[in-house]
Amino acid sequence: MNDLQKRTWAEISLPNIRHNYEAIRRSLPAGCRFLGVVKADAYGHGALPVSRLLQEAGADYLAVSCLDEALELRRGGITMPILILGHTPPEYTGLLIEENLTQTVSALAKAKEYSAAAQELGKTLRVHIKLDTGMSRLGFLCAGDYFDIGVGNVIASCKLPNLEPEGIYTHFAVSDEPGEENEAYTLQQFQLFTDVIAAVRERGGVRFAIRHCANSGAVVRYPQMALDMVRPGLLLYGYGDESGRLGLLPCMRLVTTVSTIKHYEAGTSVSYGRRFVTARHTRMGVLAIGYADGLPRILSNKCSFYVAGGYAPQRGSICMDMCMLDLTELPQAAVGDEVEIFGEHNDIEALAREAGTISYELLCAVSKRVPRVYDK
Ligand SMILES: *Cc1c(COP(=O)(O)O)cnc(C)c1O
Repeated sequence: MNDLQKRTWAEISLPNIRHNYEAIRRSLPAGCRFLGVVKADAYGHGALPVSRLLQEAGADYLAVSCLDEALELRRGGITMPILILGHTPPEYTGLLIEENLTQTVSALAKAKEYSAAAQELGKTLRVHIKLDTGMSRLGFLCAGDYFDIGVGNVIASCKLPNLEPEGIYTHFAVSDEPGEENEAYTLQQFQLFTDVIAAVRERGGVRFAIRHCANSGAVVRYPQMALDMVRPGLLLYGYGDESGRLGLLPCMRLVTTVSTIKHYEAGTSVSYGRRFVTARHTRMGVLAIGYADGLPRILSNKCSFYVAGGYAPQRGSICMDMCMLDLTELPQAAVGDEVEIFGEHNDIEALAREAGTISYELLCAVSKRVPRVYDK
């Protein structure tokens, strides 16, 4: 970080990420591999530093969303296996192979395109088959009437030339949500996943070295679903309702500073839209953070931040680069003070609820403009 600016920054604890990695590892059955999900810049924590840590700590696999994210890691010296969760256009098959990346295959038509491209190059592309067992997103359809077609298409994909089907996976829709209905749905997804794998083996003689389905929710709530590898993202960063169960630690603290403090008489309107009007003499701080830094505008007039040993309410519309904080009750707060937006004193989950969203979105929203400062 440019120390001269001291505007807004995100403190990231690499030791906490390491602690979380090790705690999750300890909870897994012997021999189970660990894939760390580092898509979206490792949920805002910095894909390269987090991947370097995981590589050094002995994780088995990484996952990213797209080819660009994978290339960033390879260029940064990450040599461990990387799975691309999303689609990559077949024109990039050569690059995928050259960079030793593992591509998700979610339909027979796509398998055929990758196979044709790899054949032309005279090389082999490593792939993981993705099943749609109830998320209704990417993946071979295999539920209900689609079972036989799905199994047939997976077998056909795996038998295509120049593809190496190393793994098979699926993704859960409600593994992180409590309640009987959600549990039944997750168990049903898991059953379908294992049924398809068994049918693919019986009917096609295809066996997968790595079967994986457990995202963060399943790692905590359904340890029996670990199979050959788990695939946590949020949990690794110490967030989610379940992270306490494994003794995990949050890894990001978003901090800004008080740029200036002004005194207003009662009846003064504050910020765009004049959505807050002072009811008394008010000592108002201007903070160097706005929605362009990742503080959602929907939190305007609805949140508090931690400063000078206390909590102060945010007032008026949150602007692109600034917002206002009522410091009337905290006379000790001064210009230049650090203000914790979320972190150990201000729970990100509570802030997310107030914003009508989830901690995932607040973490990913911390923008490129915000320097990451690493605690090693
Ligand atoms: C994002 C993602 C994960 C990680 O999910 P968490 O809830 O953060 O653990 C795992 N698998 C797939 C396919 C994903 O897209």
